[in-house]
Amino acid sequence: MTCPVCSAAETREFLVRESVPVHQNLVMATAEAAASIARGRLAMRICPSCGFAFNAAFDAGLLAYGDDYDNTQSHSPSFRAYLDELVAHLVTTRGVQDARIVEVGCGKGYFLREVVAAHPGNRGWGFDPSYLGPEVDLDGRLQFRRELYGPAHESVTADVVICRHVIEHVADPVALLRSVRAALASSPRARVVFETPCLEWILRGLVSWDLFYEHCSLFTAASLRTAFERAGFAVESVKHIFGGQYLWLEARLAPAPTDAPTREPGEVVALADAFAGDEQRWRAMWTERLRGGDRVAVWGAGAKGVTFTNLVDPTRALIDCVVDLNPRKQGQFLPGTGHPIIAPGDLATRSVRRAVLMNPNYRAENERLLAELGLTVALED
Ligand SMILES: [Zn+2]
Repeated sequence: MTCPVCSAAETREFLVRESVPVHQNLVMATAEAAASIARGRLAMRICPSCGFAFNAAFDAGLLAYGDDYDNTQSHSPSFRAYLDELVAHLVTTRGVQDARIVEVGCGKGYFLREVVAAHPGNRGWGFDPSYLGPEVDLDGRLQFRRELYGPAHESVTADVVICRHVIEHVADPVALLRSVRAALASSPRARVVFETPCLEWILRGLVSWDLFYEHCSLFTAASLRTAFERAGFAVESVKHIFGGQYLWLEARLAPAPTDAPTREPGEVVALADAFAGDEQRWRAMWTERLRGGDRVAVWGAGAKGVTFTNLVDPTRALIDCVVDLNPRKQGQFLPGTGHPIIAPGDLATRSVRRAVLMNPNYRAENERLLAELGLTVALED
């Protein structure tokens, strides 16, 4: 099993989970449909040469990023505040003004719309096969295309290319980056910014529910740099953001790809071994905690909540329901298990008194929301 990022011949398997739901961000209209979602195998390997981790059993053919796919996080006020900070960083600190901006994998277009709206001279082109909404917006300054971005779009000249939370979904990340580079043939001065989860944050915190099928490629700051160098980019910086959970990389086109990219695995191989060794312990611990006491919910029907719930309560014996702020998810069912997804206001009618928080970054926001609703629900993490 060769490393897809640095081509090292030896990589090591560190975690296997059989039969996991292939999608974490699809919701289903019935519990039966949710329980019968397509499943795949997670066989995570780590590269001791560069620190990159990947699912060697990943099959892209099982995935369908269609109209039902919804990974919108902007329903959360604190996530919106985080996005506002990123927009300010780009537009004010990095001077993305009077700029032609391409977003690769723009989702529903929330972020690109904010970056374009933040300066009257900005124009944007969003590419995403799962995009829903108007094709043209902001008086023509913003356009969306329901297709993958690649060399065919060379005529769309760009000053900035943004790609957030896409590269971890791709089995051959260097090929994706080469395709972006080819699309920029007529934009040699373009700046490229990428955001993706940080593997080291997941492993250090033993955040077991952050390893799942959709994320077949996971990077450390160093291995993300390796991938960009191999694809022909000069990396200017890689920072940790969102409380350390995400990486933010800024790069420009290099004259040519390098055969001798950065290779700094750091401590990540040892961390991967410790992580895998902890899997049985934390599942037993959570089974015990969920079994006793008041009726309990999971807070967050995103990838973390779906993975956690599938691992600790596949038969719906312990967890009553899953809470989510996204109105498109409310009234639907969780992929893999079929737990009902509800609005926070419905916790009382279900007599739920405890909720397990999937992301500690949202604790204060959720406590405020519960207080406004007059609900007494203990938040656990
Ligand atoms: Zn490698």
